[in-house]
Amino acid sequence: MTVRLILLITVVALLKIPATVPSPVSGKKICIDPGHGGTALTDSYRVGALGEREEWINLRVALMLKKMLEANGAQVLMTRSKDDRVELEKRAELATSGEADLFVSIHHNATADRNVNFPIVYFHGAASENDASVQAAKFLALELKKQLFNGKGHVSVVSDYTIFPKKGAAVLRHSYGIPGLLAEASFFTNIDEEKRLKEDGYNEREATAFMNAIELFFSHPQSKIKEKVIPDQLPVFHVLEEADRMKPEALNWLNDFESGKELFKEKDTASIQKAYELFTRSARSFPDSWVARECHEYRSAILLQQKKVEESKEERIRAKEFYIRE
Ligand SMILES: [Zn+2]
Repeated sequence: MTVRLILLITVVALLKIPATVPSPVSGKKICIDPGHGGTALTDSYRVGALGEREEWINLRVALMLKKMLEANGAQVLMTRSKDDRVELEKRAELATSGEADLFVSIHHNATADRNVNFPIVYFHGAASENDASVQAAKFLALELKKQLFNGKGHVSVVSDYTIFPKKGAAVLRHSYGIPGLLAEASFFTNIDEEKRLKEDGYNEREATAFMNAIELFFSHPQSKIKEKVIPDQLPVFHVLEEADRMKPEALNWLNDFESGKELFKEKDTASIQKAYELFTRSARSFPDSWVARECHEYRSAILLQQKKVEESKEERIRAKEFYIRE
């Protein structure tokens, strides 16, 4: 070893020069999809009481996330970079034709109950067939809870079939095969949340949650996405979709669930039947709430008591494949 080399090693050791570890996103291609866009004149549903539009929040967070990803060596495909209308199929096509390693759709949620505010992250199809997307969704749900809710409250990680029971969400369906998620980070129908969502600093925290989750996703091994079979084998469970979720009856989802549990304890046939109806109504009113999985599990148990073995089994599969435990 030459004196010069020994000297160099000593200097490096003394200075404790850190070896620069590249981010797990370095070299990855990520498709970011800010939901909606260009609908201010035609859509009065996706707007908060204070006038903030969902599509504007989605875009602000998406552009911040793009910067973070690019600063860490990732390549980013944006389905839109302005307040533009882009067809759903086109959004998914950008991910597939661009051979993205991950598809991330950014949304914010609305419901009739103004107290409700928690993150919901969707994967496409059945959990056991789309484990890579489930993993990404779980990382994101926990990061959103950490960054936006101080680690408190509930999160839902659910299949997009819970809210679109016939075929899931178009952007995830058309990009199936690529790990993908659609996040409703929080509820702009909650007025305090809408106020926060107007602030750049808060949007930045949300973008950080996405960034952290994407780094976690790429630092873990992923299993291959399987052919989608299970969702089409289950009977459709009809639910209130999108604007219908603003109906007053949707306000009762939590009461229905709690009353259902009380009636279930009564054990007489009439009470059990009434409990079944309440669990059903709760799951229809708010199919992606944090109690919806339990509603389906109770439905399954009651159906079994009523000797409806096949229906009971289908409900058990629905709870297991469409709802991930926290
Ligand atoms: Zn949306």
